[in-house]
Amino acid sequence: MLYNTIMNYLNNKYDVIVVGAGHAGCEAALSCARLGLKVLLATLNIDNIALQPCNPAIGGPAKSTLVREIAALGGEMGEAADATYIQMKMLNSSKGPAVRALRAQSDKKEYSDYMRHLLEKTNNIYLRQACITDLIVKDGEITGAVDEFGIEYSVRAAVLTTGTSLAGKIFVGLKSYSAGRLGEQAAIGLSDSLRKLGINLKKLKTGTPPRVDSRTIDYSKMEIQPGDEVLNFYSFKPNRPVRKQYPCYLTRTNEETHNIIRANLDKSPMFQGLIQGVGPRYCPSIEDKVVRFHENPSHHIFIEPEGLGTYEVYIQGFSSSLPADVQIKMLRTLPGLEKAHVIKPAYAVEYDYVPAIQTTHSLMSKQVKGLFFAGQINGTSGYEEAAAQGLIAGINAFNYLNHSEMLELSRSSSYIGTLIDDLVTKDIQDPYRMLTSRSEYRLLLRQDNADERLTPIGHKIGLVDEAQFNIFKIKQENIAKEIARLKEEKVPANDDTNSILAKYGEHIDRGMKLAELLKRPNITYNIIKELHPQTQKLNISRDVYEQAEVMIKYDGYLKRQEFQVEQAGKLDKFKIPENIDYMSIEHISSETKEKLNKIRPKTLAQASRIGGVKPADISVLMVILEKHQFAIKN
Ligand SMILES: Cc1cc2nc3c(=O)[nH]c(=O)nc-3n(C[C@H](O)[C@H](O)[C@H](O)COP(=O)(O)OP(=O)(O)OC[C@H]3O[C@@H](n4cnc5c(N)ncnc54)[C@H](O)[C@@H]3O)c2cc1C
Repeated sequence: MLYNTIMNYLNNKYDVIVVGAGHAGCEAALSCARLGLKVLLATLNIDNIALQPCNPAIGGPAKSTLVREIAALGGEMGEAADATYIQMKMLNSSKGPAVRALRAQSDKKEYSDYMRHLLEKTNNIYLRQACITDLIVKDGEITGAVDEFGIEYSVRAAVLTTGTSLAGKIFVGLKSYSAGRLGEQAAIGLSDSLRKLGINLKKLKTGTPPRVDSRTIDYSKMEIQPGDEVLNFYSFKPNRPVRKQYPCYLTRTNEETHNIIRANLDKSPMFQGLIQGVGPRYCPSIEDKVVRFHENPSHHIFIEPEGLGTYEVYIQGFSSSLPADVQIKMLRTLPGLEKAHVIKPAYAVEYDYVPAIQTTHSLMSKQVKGLFFAGQINGTSGYEEAAAQGLIAGINAFNYLNHSEMLELSRSSSYIGTLIDDLVTKDIQDPYRMLTSRSEYRLLLRQDNADERLTPIGHKIGLVDEAQFNIFKIKQENIAKEIARLKEEKVPANDDTNSILAKYGEHIDRGMKLAELLKRPNITYNIIKELHPQTQKLNISRDVYEQAEVMIKYDGYLKRQEFQVEQAGKLDKFKIPENIDYMSIEHISSETKEKLNKIRPKTLAQASRIGGVKPADISVLMVILEKHQFAIKN
């Protein structure tokens, strides 16, 4: 056995190669290895594992739900964020539960070290600093990969997570050079190898702001943004680390900043057409914001520490591709940054990506068996989106090699399912970022119930261990018990009750069940504790009562959304055969036929989500499927 392992290692023989140790690559490698595969994790620079090349933060709107879903399935991003935060903040805490979002300001270096040590400690993962330039495919199946020195690795599956490195080109003003990120080479060669396999590549662009020396900033001119006093975490595991928190700061652009930007647009590679790739719509550069929202006299700029061991701070909201000298002038117009010393310039990067309509919901290529894509290479933007895909691609690389059923999460189960369905169904043209508005079921898909939705799946796969699964089961039982108790126990309508209720603008004329009272918009679980000493005494843990509160308060909305899921499920049951000839179907426009032919949806539900496919087209398809007895109905 040991001899075989050593021989395989010397022969460069692995089950799977993961190309890239960014956020997608780390999750992919860890899930494959934890499921028992022998993994080669090849990356351009071993010192940049799980690097956060843009903002030093994990989470935020919609992204926090992805991180909790990753944690619920047994992935690592949430654990790493909990272990290395320097600030925790629950955004939108006064709003409804569907849009509440945790954001962890990270110590970048610590986060990267955490992941590197974990990869090094994990059995079955072999790290290697190498640039993969070619893939070997035999009879439509992946069999190997080759690095820049011509070393060949024999594999049975591959997960490509190349981020912004594939044929990457960096722009600072009108100057450009080959690089995937500042200070890291571009990945040259692999794009051509993919093209030879019949895979289509396109270009996208993204950008990052400058980094400034904290010692040259006058924070007294800015608004302080502290972390939360009551902490929340990503992981569902107990005993989360309580760490010292550090503040961020808020400043604003002004007319002078905007004038400098407008006067220098002729030096912008974007505005001069040097960059062909489309940039992130929801994360525009400062010059984009000034031009597109010209009526806006000022934009928020946040100053975020990059970590405890450095003076480097991140200038959130100031992403730019203007020349370095112009950037300094712009920055020094911001209150508090008049004497700013720039450590790293802002830059834009253009890179190749593989439009994900060429992959299935499992994230496996439609052209090459055993070849998976995850992260920025699929046209997304963001660490959380990347990690979520990496986890699914890793699990499915294992499923592929084991001849098991692929894990394909539905839209109604998770943001991860929604993200992947959007990627493989809609022909994404600009970097895709997760937003709550992308989900039609956002009230069901909350960060607080990610474990309820996904932990049983993670346990079944083998990534959630017995200890975590038991904690999960006990929590679910306690939530059910607490809901039952709140539906049973009452407060009397007396002076004591009403004097407390009056503080919150409420009054009752008859004794009322706690659950009924909790449904009132002004009443929270904490007020119930104040009103009802027995509830106070029970000392129910926060994760349990918060869930119970949401489930009681939003019961009506949740039921409506569950009904919606049921309705949508009906179209899901209409499976479309793989060999259907769309071009021969009558009564559908040729444009729609071409779209259906390109994306080849698996179900009528997926077909209905393709941009431009009309309800009338779905009716035609439904009739055809029924007529030819293609439909599999329950
Ligand atoms: C300049 C810049 C700006 C960004 N702006 C934003 C933003 O505004 N908003 C946002 O949400 N996200 C932004 N990001 C994106 C964020 O960094 C990525 O979305 C996220 O890191 C993607 O994760 P990933 O795992 O797909 O790729 P990455 O984290 O980029 O990791 C890719 C890894 O693959 C390795 N690699 C690539 N090719 C090869 C090869 N051939 N052989 C071996 N190794 C290879 C690289 O070394 C790297 O380690 C930005 C990134 C950059 C660089």
